Amino acid sequence: MSNFEYLLSPIDKIKGVGKKTLSSFNKKKIFTIFDLLWHLPLSRIETAEDTEVDDLQVGKIYNIKVIPIKYNFPRIRNLPNKVQCEKNGVKLDCIFFNSYEGYIKKLLPLNEEIIIHGKANNFRNKFQFVNPTTKKTNNLNIINEDSKYSLSDGLKLNKYNQVINNVFKNLPDLEEWLPQEVSSLFDNVSWKESIIKIHKEEITKIRDTKYFKRLVFDEIFANFLLSSDIRNKIKKIKKKNKILDLQHQSKIIGNLKFKLTTDQITSLKNINTDLQSKQKMFRLLQGDVGSGKTIVSIIAALNTIKAGYQVSIMAPTEILAIQHYKFILENFNNFCNPEILTGKTEYKKRKKILNDVLNNKIDILVGTHSLFQEKITYFNLGLIIIDEQHKFGVNQRKKLSDKGGNDCDVLVMSATPIPRTMMMTIYGDMDISLIKSKPKNRLPIKTYSKNETKINEVISFIKSEILKKNQVFWVCPLIKESKKIDHQSATEKFKFLRKIFDDKVDIVHGAMGKEEKDKVLNKFNDRKIDILVSTTVIEVGIDFPNANVIVIENSNKYGLSQLHQLRGRVGRGNKESSCILMFKAGLSENARKRITILKNTNDGFKIAEEDLKIRGYGDILGFKQSGLKKYNLADPIQHEDLFKIAENQIKKIEKNKIKMNNFNKLIKLYDKVAVINETI
Ligand code: ADP
Ligand code: MG
Repeated sequence: MSNFEYLLSPIDKIKGVGKKTLSSFNKKKIFTIFDLLWHLPLSRIETAEDTEVDDLQVGKIYNIKVIPIKYNFPRIRNLPNKVQCEKNGVKLDCIFFNSYEGYIKKLLPLNEEIIIHGKANNFRNKFQFVNPTTKKTNNLNIINEDSKYSLSDGLKLNKYNQVINNVFKNLPDLEEWLPQEVSSLFDNVSWKESIIKIHKEEITKIRDTKYFKRLVFDEIFANFLLSSDIRNKIKKIKKKNKILDLQHQSKIIGNLKFKLTTDQITSLKNINTDLQSKQKMFRLLQGDVGSGKTIVSIIAALNTIKAGYQVSIMAPTEILAIQHYKFILENFNNFCNPEILTGKTEYKKRKKILNDVLNNKIDILVGTHSLFQEKITYFNLGLIIIDEQHKFGVNQRKKLSDKGGNDCDVLVMSATPIPRTMMMTIYGDMDISLIKSKPKNRLPIKTYSKNETKINEVISFIKSEILKKNQVFWVCPLIKESKKIDHQSATEKFKFLRKIFDDKVDIVHGAMGKEEKDKVLNKFNDRKIDILVSTTVIEVGIDFPNANVIVIENSNKYGLSQLHQLRGRVGRGNKESSCILMFKAGLSENARKRITILKNTNDGFKIAEEDLKIRGYGDILGFKQSGLKKYNLADPIQHEDLFKIAENQIKKIEKNKIKMNNFNKLIKLYDKVAVINETI
């Protein structure tokens, strides 16, 4: 066994790990020695002082003397167990994932003073400790030199430390996998030295050291390498090259009512090159809301059809699917035979559509993402287009790239700008085309904020806009907990506006049927109504160029990126547009910051960066949604420089200046724990 393989061997190889300990470690997803080392200690146990709840700071480790007062063990899968505790009259919660009730009750007996130890978190304005450990009171001042790990049922701290110490005793020297130019940045400290340090020193003391940074770099680099590896594998898939008719394309472009922007043309060229190549396309088309991605993808689709293939287009919502379908039908009917298939398509119609797809009578099939799940047999599918895909993770994309057989290219589109440092982590498995500039006719959207008590001012503003023949979106509060409440609050606002604007107002919400929804959207499209009240179903992608005012209620409930997305529903035509952010009194400092940023810039990428800074890594929108888990050590804000260095290394590999093979060990080590592996 080579030195390196020691790290990948199972932990029952370690002295002192018997059956029981093994199973306790396995419960914590620790299987190999590397897994064990990658689970970092929470802290070192040193002198411990008691803390008041008011003095807690999120993210820091504490000892705090509390009295458990109530258990809450929901018998619902995925919901954690909770123990309500109290400290001098202030409540806080202990949250337990993957722990049995019996264990929790023993750990935190009710009404007895006990010291809990762990990291302070804040959830819905209440402090909580996740899987804390405990000590009986009175020994608060005991100094214990052990490292402190998060424990699971049946695993004691002593045992844990004993096992770790055994590993360190036997840990072999490893051959350096980092290139010299990188490893010298960290004074050539080895992975082994670094990992021992990080287990044996207080994390706050080590965070800025070369040891810590080296491990951070390894983590980032391994993730980048893994996605780059996926990309290489996809690129190796051979497909039949599509023969494109560029004269045909010129005809299509010539018929457009507008001129394509430079970025649109470049993106289209990228895509065409991919379609014509013998390698499978796996490309992301990214551009801010309203940058004109749809038309680029449709031209690519028409090119594919002309080359003798079928195309399928998937949208995240039904409304969007319908809109894409209509857009194609109204503008490109001469060039293709489109059809739409959604969850609500009737049985008979569905059967006919599926049959027509099989017989090549339909060449573009538009639908929702549920088209993935359906067993649809195509005559010869040549291109899959996925709109607004930021909800997918790498694993889903990996599956996606297998769809439709080898001759099928894949184009995904996203309007969620990602902070620059996170680009490679999230999309490293794809080729990327960016549309940075918006069509020239666009005027910047004017953004205002209004206290909701001043709704009358908003109403008079809207009245004046309607007089100018403009249309208005009115977005109702987002109440995540319940779709039903969402739609109730929208309905109430709708009634309120009806009294003022009569039948010039209508409403769409998630609970409406397709036809009903369609009718309303068509009315809005045909300008038969002036105001469209909605819940956030209109968030993504929908396009009504004549709407130039958007009112967002309770805007403080949304994150920056989401507000930017919503705002992007207007400002698509060539008229001046406005976005009115309504809020309740008593805004938090961060909510104020968000509003100021939105007022100051329309650039989605800038906004994404700011969002990251305000909310902190791991909490940014689209990130949570993508289901990506967090890096263990790396933080895109703190370690921006290391992300850049890792990216440069990847570029060198892509240019064949460094061999990918050099990093096989690193990839193998981090393969299972990589951030990119985790999806929803
Ligand atoms: P998104 O990138 O958010 O999907 P869309 O593709 O829906 O944006 O485009 C937004 C609007 O801009 C549409 O009405 C579209 O027809 C229009 N549009 C697209 N490209 C151009 C262009 N080059 N010049 C003018 N308008 C354009
Ligand atoms: Mg779109």
